[in-house]
Amino acid sequence: MKKIRLALSFLMMLATFCHRASADTAITLTPKKVSAHVYYFQGESGVASAANQGFMSNAGFVVTPDGVVVFDALATPALGEAMIKAIKAVTTQPIKKVIAGHYHADHIYGLQAFKQLGADIIAHEAGQSYLHSDLAQQRLEQRRTELFPWVDEHTVVTGADHWLNFSKEKIHRFSLGGIRFQIIDSSGAHSAEDILLFVENDRVLFAGDIYFSGRIPFVGNADSRVWLATLDRLLDVKPTIVIPGHGAASTQTEKDMQLTKSYLEYLRQQMGMAVNDLLGFEEAYQRTDWSRFENLPAFKEANRLNAYGTYLLMEKESLAK
Ligand SMILES: [Zn+2]
Repeated sequence: MKKIRLALSFLMMLATFCHRASADTAITLTPKKVSAHVYYFQGESGVASAANQGFMSNAGFVVTPDGVVVFDALATPALGEAMIKAIKAVTTQPIKKVIAGHYHADHIYGLQAFKQLGADIIAHEAGQSYLHSDLAQQRLEQRRTELFPWVDEHTVVTGADHWLNFSKEKIHRFSLGGIRFQIIDSSGAHSAEDILLFVENDRVLFAGDIYFSGRIPFVGNADSRVWLATLDRLLDVKPTIVIPGHGAASTQTEKDMQLTKSYLEYLRQQMGMAVNDLLGFEEAYQRTDWSRFENLPAFKEANRLNAYGTYLLMEKESLAK
């Protein structure tokens, strides 16, 4: 009898928990309109956590007279579903294409909601090796713990229907409903498979994690040489509005890009000199004059790690010479 009572109370607990989980997973997103055809969802600042339901990155969409094009899919299937709901509240046009900017967890677990809808998912071909890597599996396991119940055993890493190859051209172009799009190769800058989306008619650029506005960028183990080449191409494109992977959309596009550019160039120059002189990192870091950048937002949090990543990169580049 006692056993049955215990089993019953356990079942009741489970039922309450499941009910709560499904109620909590209903997330409402509100898009911001930035131009005639373009909208975006701005994630909260900080890292992904159960408290923010994983909503700490941006994604967006473009409404054309012949269907919707989406850029990125946020960090959980529930957020992907919330995006779909929000898009449907704006337009009756069907969601036709989803561009997966890069395969970092905070931008792609929502893809499976779009896949279920039958949208055409497009990514850089380098994303395929991530998809089948141990890293992808480890990351998913980690997120299943950190972001439960929003990332759970039903969450998968969704591949693309079209894997783009950029060996001949750095830009893939397509039109939908009279709106012209450019998918710009930026692979290797922040991840192996970065692509950006430029909406020509509105001059709006979705720039993923290579764009930072009014602050020190997060460099990590990015390849700043590729990043700088990408920034030069973007300066030629001259977007009037840029939607980054995190933080608010920017209209100071040239200023932002010049800042990132001069910061990356400075890191490479200073750390490159240290590597040439066989200085250890600590000494090199102390000797460097950071006064040009030290009052900018995110300097304290990011600069030392950025310098260290660049130091290692410059070592690698000097050994490859
Ligand atoms: Zn990223």
